[in-house]
Amino acid sequence: MAPAPPASPAPPQVLLAHHLRQLKLPTFLREYEKVATEAAREGLDHVRFLLRLAELELIDRERRMVERRISAAHFSAVKSFDTFDFAAIPSLNKPLVLELARCEYVVARDNVIAVGNSGTGKTHVSLALGLAACQRGFSVAFFTAASVVHQLMEARDERRLLKLQAQLAAVKLLIIDELGYVPLSQTGAELLFEIFSQRHERGSTIVTSNLPFEEWTSVFGSPRLTGALLDRLTHHVHILELNGESYRLKQSKARRRRDPRPSDEAVAAADPETGEITPAS
Ligand code: ADP
Ligand code: MG
Repeated sequence: MAPAPPASPAPPQVLLAHHLRQLKLPTFLREYEKVATEAAREGLDHVRFLLRLAELELIDRERRMVERRISAAHFSAVKSFDTFDFAAIPSLNKPLVLELARCEYVVARDNVIAVGNSGTGKTHVSLALGLAACQRGFSVAFFTAASVVHQLMEARDERRLLKLQAQLAAVKLLIIDELGYVPLSQTGAELLFEIFSQRHERGSTIVTSNLPFEEWTSVFGSPRLTGALLDRLTHHVHILELNGESYRLKQSKARRRRDPRPSDEAVAAADPETGEITPAS
């Protein structure tokens, strides 16, 4: 009997695509034909052709990792220092903020506390520091104080507290926004204290608060707990002071000065975030 004709081999492009997928080199796969055409046109040898593809894959892989870190951080919004107007908040130490944006404090496991009244850019600065950390390869997690406490209580009820605590202890940078807006229950305060305690000298924590330190007892209830917490948090700390007029309020006032409408006279402006009322002048 005549032997069966050999199965026609898959074209090399098909095999290459399969192998590159297995090797997780999506950019290599997407770009190799285009780069091959360029290489032929420019007379590049094989090594330079491969080098160009490897570089493209590395650049893309870095970008994908940054995107993954950003999405894992669960930022309330993605904001950077590119859109932050330092001139609007003279009380803020700009050289210190720019230094922090280089993220050496994350390597040193230092903490950052941003204190100031509402609308002065504390959340914006903490988001921008979080983004900078993602871009430099650090894992980040962003929470409001209320939401992290809520999640800790829920985890405790569902008997997965240890797992959540381990996750919160493991991120290189933990951001706790808006400490002070809501007083915590005793259990909530203790759970949050435990997080700060577990991260002490193991990872950086950024805390933003509308309250000066003297008033933190009103959030945590117990002066003893507050003292112990401040002791840990402020051991290696950079303090940012943001005191001044609410940025949005200032903007809407400036807008109204530029573009006065008669109807505005009767209307009082409310800050969208704080509900603070400024009577129209
Ligand atoms: P806070 O957290 O201190 O209450 P936010 O960071 O939420 O204040 O700021 C309120 C709004 O104003 C946000 O949309 C923020 O992006 C913007 N904002 C505040 N300060 C500045 C600034 N100096 N430059 C640009 N935008 C700012
Ligand atoms: Mg805020």
